[in-house]
Amino acid sequence: MKPAPFDYDDPRSVDEAIGLLARYGDECKVLAGGQSLVPLMNFRLARPGRLVDINGIESLGQVKVENGRLLLGAMVRHAQVERSNDIAARWPLLHDAIVWVGHSQIRNRGTVGGSVAHADPAAELPCALAALDAKFHVLSRRGPRVLRWDQIFVSEFTTSLAPDELLTAIEVPPQDPSTGVAFVEFARRHGDFALGGAAVSITLARNGTCSDVAVALLSAGPRPVRAEEAERRLKGGQVDEAAIKQASAAAVQGLHPTSDLHGSREYRVKLLQVMTERALTKAVHLATRRAA
Ligand SMILES: Cc1cc2nc3c(=O)[nH]c(=O)nc-3n(C[C@H](O)[C@H](O)[C@H](O)COP(=O)(O)OP(=O)(O)OC[C@H]3O[C@@H](n4cnc5c(N)ncnc54)[C@H](O)[C@@H]3O)c2cc1C
Repeated sequence: MKPAPFDYDDPRSVDEAIGLLARYGDECKVLAGGQSLVPLMNFRLARPGRLVDINGIESLGQVKVENGRLLLGAMVRHAQVERSNDIAARWPLLHDAIVWVGHSQIRNRGTVGGSVAHADPAAELPCALAALDAKFHVLSRRGPRVLRWDQIFVSEFTTSLAPDELLTAIEVPPQDPSTGVAFVEFARRHGDFALGGAAVSITLARNGTCSDVAVALLSAGPRPVRAEEAERRLKGGQVDEAAIKQASAAAVQGLHPTSDLHGSREYRVKLLQVMTERALTKAVHLATRRAA
């Protein structure tokens, strides 16, 4: 299939891009890596009248560290994150999540901003960013906004970005070097979207008790899910096998993942519980080694 006809703009600055978005509003779509938008256009499931291609805006492709915080420009490719030794060392959960995204060809083109703006509940990056309490920098002619993960992700393929807004950067807070992390998922074939998964970040005190923990679930609902009850149970206690089992059971209480031909709701709930248990076990193992 070929896409429906559209006009095309190739802005060279963020200011020019937001000017175009202000002028054309929901008539146009931002084109980033094109890995989700172009197939949708080819199937005519999306028919934007105009594309604002942001690939020519150099400033959006930068990776910066400022005051210990990681700033990923919206056009940073998945492959840039995957290949960065600095990110692997200081924000290992991001690295561990991104290697699950599709195949290397997709990661070479796909962008971090595109993954967020597309808001697929089975996408790894939004799930990892939820676990990391990331912030999202958004700009329009009306001014800047900074959103938390639970403010930007609304539902399946839906964010709170207005048609005239551009996601410009993702900000990830500094990670404690003794934190243990794990990203675990299950898909029928390598590179497919996952049926379920879990992102865990856990820090242990010297006496072995949990001083901080984040558990986020993938493909568990219409947007990334933070397993708050599991986190509450783990915080302040010893994290042994029994505690991990209890927390994993608590993580899936009240979840309503989609039931479809790939798996029933019951199957997916069980899968999410197992993924949480595996991710917690792996992350605790790493955190124990680092705390020693
Ligand atoms: C075969 C295949 C397998 C895949 N497997 C996976 C997978 O396992 N996991 C996964 O997470 N993804 C997967 N993807 C999707 C891939 O990660 C995409 O790259 C990603 O979802 C979208 O990023 P993009 O840069 O390509 O965005 P685009 O396709 O260019 O855009 C996606 C949407 O976001 C909007 N947008 C993009 N950037 C901005 C911005 N800065 N501000 C505002 N709006 C913006 C666009 O207008 C569009 O609506 C797969 C894709 C393919 C083709």
